[in-house]
Amino acid sequence: MPAHPFFSTPKLGFGLMRLPKLPDGAIDIEQTKDMVDLFLESGFTYFDTAYVYDGGQSEIAAGKALVARHKRDSFTLATKLNARVSTSREDAEKQLMTSLERTQAEYFDFYLLHALGSRNVPLYDEYKIWDYAARMKEKGLIRHWGFSFHDSPELLEKLLNDHPDAEFVQLQINYADWESNTVASRRNLEVARAHGKPVVVMEPVRGGALANPPQRVRDILTAADPAASPASWALRFAASQEGVMTVLSGMSNMDQMRDNIATMKGFVSLNEHQRAVMEEARQALLNVPSIPCTGCSYCTEGCPMQIKIPDIFSARNQDIIFGQTERARNRYAQIIKDSAGADQCIQCGQCESACPQNLPIIELLKQAAQAFA
Ligand code: SF4
Ligand code: SF4
Repeated sequence: MPAHPFFSTPKLGFGLMRLPKLPDGAIDIEQTKDMVDLFLESGFTYFDTAYVYDGGQSEIAAGKALVARHKRDSFTLATKLNARVSTSREDAEKQLMTSLERTQAEYFDFYLLHALGSRNVPLYDEYKIWDYAARMKEKGLIRHWGFSFHDSPELLEKLLNDHPDAEFVQLQINYADWESNTVASRRNLEVARAHGKPVVVMEPVRGGALANPPQRVRDILTAADPAASPASWALRFAASQEGVMTVLSGMSNMDQMRDNIATMKGFVSLNEHQRAVMEEARQALLNVPSIPCTGCSYCTEGCPMQIKIPDIFSARNQDIIFGQTERARNRYAQIIKDSAGADQCIQCGQCESACPQNLPIIELLKQAAQAFA
């Protein structure tokens, strides 16, 4: 792929979807400010939020911790329009104005149609969001637009053929999902590359799961480099792929920020030997069964019982992958202290139609209810 101007973006992006929280559940703005400052001081520039993250609090935090305190041309800010949470075309179009108000950013460097997949593309078509993004770019409220995507390479191919003016795509790229049928990291990346679209990587550490892989995987990585954390291997794997513009990490505290900066400052792609190590780790991971939930939370918005589905699956995986049964049980007990349990699912199916990973959520909740009974 010829050099694209987007490739001058530093390889680590700050995902603002898991910002640090105060005991009352509000975003910890002071800690977020420290993280933003360290990130910028370390030479990184790309920030990623979305209209729906934390019910709008993420965009507000971006405004307070980043936009209000740093020169507008010293960083790039991305946000996303989510058609699923709007009831009409007019309502969907208002999201951009709301995002601008929340962040006070004046314009967005990168604007994305959020979480496209076969179930919601018809809605983005119906609301003509593609044309809207192009119009807003002409007006100067958006510098570049693209979309984040969770579906098959075939659908990605179709979307890029239908909308060749989309400038970039955001894809789920990690070594665990490299050859999976549901996420199809490798094949989707190849489609984007074939269309000359730079790729922003999301979920490089698969919702944090690859920071604590099963022992067999950890052993392989540690033997190759005792000083490198499993999370750093996962980040470097994603950033080493040809066509990648930047890799988002949803950092929640200063320790994660420091670890990621240490990994990605002066980034150099994995060499042949290191790529072979990653392939060995990937094979080892394939042999460990787990629930491939990324923690994106798209399933929870419409759940009439307000079941904390990703939290429950995360507790299950703690048991399934790591064998930490007691800790998983305790965690489950904490999760359902103030919300419905897995056994209270009424099988309405809302969550399954929202899940980008196409997980059989109802069946998995049944299993969780039995395991944690
Ligand atoms: S099927 Fe169960 S978990 Fe899913 S939205 Fe309905 S009640 Fe919630
Ligand atoms: S179950 Fe699906 S929609 Fe819900 S958090 Fe997990 S991956 Fe996301």
